[in-house]
Amino acid sequence: MNAVVVGGGLAGLVAAHRLVKAGMQVTLLEASGVLGGMVGRVTLGGVTVDSGAEAYAVRGGVGRSLCEELGLTVHGPAGQPHLWWPDGVWPMAEGVLGIPASLDDPALGVLTPAELERLRLDAELDRAVGSDSTTVGDLVRLRLGDGALAKLVTPVARGVYSLEPDRMPLASFAPGLLQALGDTGSLVAAVAAVRRPGAAAVEQPEGGMFRLVDALADAIRAGGGSIVTTAPVTALRRGTSGFVVQTGESSLAAEKLVLAAPASLTAGLMEPLGVQFAVPGVKTARLTMLSIRSEALADAPIGSGLLVGRPDPEIKAKALTHYSEKWPWARVNGQEVIRLSYPEQLIPSLVDAIADASRFLGTEIADRDVTGIETVGWEAMPTRLEPSTAQHLRGLFSEAGVDVVGGWLDGNGIASVIAGGAGVAS
Ligand SMILES: Cc1cc2nc3c(=O)[nH]c(=O)nc-3n(C[C@H](O)[C@H](O)[C@H](O)COP(=O)(O)OP(=O)(O)OC[C@H]3O[C@@H](n4cnc5c(N)ncnc54)[C@H](O)[C@@H]3O)c2cc1C
Repeated sequence: MNAVVVGGGLAGLVAAHRLVKAGMQVTLLEASGVLGGMVGRVTLGGVTVDSGAEAYAVRGGVGRSLCEELGLTVHGPAGQPHLWWPDGVWPMAEGVLGIPASLDDPALGVLTPAELERLRLDAELDRAVGSDSTTVGDLVRLRLGDGALAKLVTPVARGVYSLEPDRMPLASFAPGLLQALGDTGSLVAAVAAVRRPGAAAVEQPEGGMFRLVDALADAIRAGGGSIVTTAPVTALRRGTSGFVVQTGESSLAAEKLVLAAPASLTAGLMEPLGVQFAVPGVKTARLTMLSIRSEALADAPIGSGLLVGRPDPEIKAKALTHYSEKWPWARVNGQEVIRLSYPEQLIPSLVDAIADASRFLGTEIADRDVTGIETVGWEAMPTRLEPSTAQHLRGLFSEAGVDVVGGWLDGNGIASVIAGGAGVAS
């Protein structure tokens, strides 16, 4: 059987890899000149680092098992993340989404005595308090109070997920936490019960997340599959035994068809097959990456990164990752690699980025210390689909006989995308 996979992001690569392994004759078509999609890369000061996704969630095990299958060595991140406030830097609570797992966590130092007292009340409240919460915000407010919500959890929600805690369903962001609250009687104890102490929540293949893209492409080719870049698919129609896929002047017959492209393209391609749906929303992610020579930073790093505790007029970025501290393989040629994330409406200048990095890190970075700098914009980050909508769409695609995969449908994030892509061979 021959199969055509449209889209060479991670979803398409995982799907093509699975189909090759299942013995199919596979052609993958990618519109751009590079594979990987949002698992992008950039070379700064002679070192290539991730410019999009940098790690997969360990939960569920699909990321690690795929890396291991492809012979990649994986590592968890080094260094602890911190929260930056205009008057100081505090470690992020070691728990779940900034909710502490212990009353001795140094992160609680950011709270006023009254806020700390309110948080401690958690141990005395009835276990029913908060037990019918549906969002992270509700639960933390009811159990730990407004201070803990604003100072411990909201910065993590905004900095990592670009969401307010009240928009984060517990079922997706902290599964098992309500059950643990019922079992233990307090939220802090529940967090301690659900997290595995010392275990990293994320990992990446050594050398960067993009190594997985290269390893998948190599495995597809080694298995006899063909990968064509700069081959945007422009139209689809039904053929005598399956589908006909149009790219440029060429058309390919496909007995099996996998669409692993963004939602907007999928909607356009599916329309002639009689499938219509409203294209879900997207958001933009903007990053500025810098490589710098800074002995001060190499000698006294501030953990793996910083999230802004409270928006501050003096700082435009919302988070900083000290990439070469978090992933030490990237510390090459005596340089440090820094990644700044910006709110979606802000396009940072290089001057902004250097000033933000200096302020965040508490060390003056001079222009002459910067060996590489690049701003990257990802314009089509999927927003979350309601599970009922995703299920409805899967039904439509399945009736049309087309496999549709990718972050917009399976859930934005490497682990969900790998699980979705691998499902095409089942
Ligand atoms: C800045 C950033 C940071 C992230 N960080 C993380 C992280 O740390 N951990 C995590 O788990 N997730 C992270 N993510 C999310 C993760 O990167 C995505 O969920 C995942 O990479 C999506 O893969 P995909 O294959 O579904 O989509 P995409 O990567 O968008 O791939 C779609 C592919 O389809 C191609 N295409 C488009 N049109 C056509 C056409 N006409 N014909 C053929 N091909 C076409 C595109 O060029 C692209 O290569 C991050 C995302 C971004 C942007």
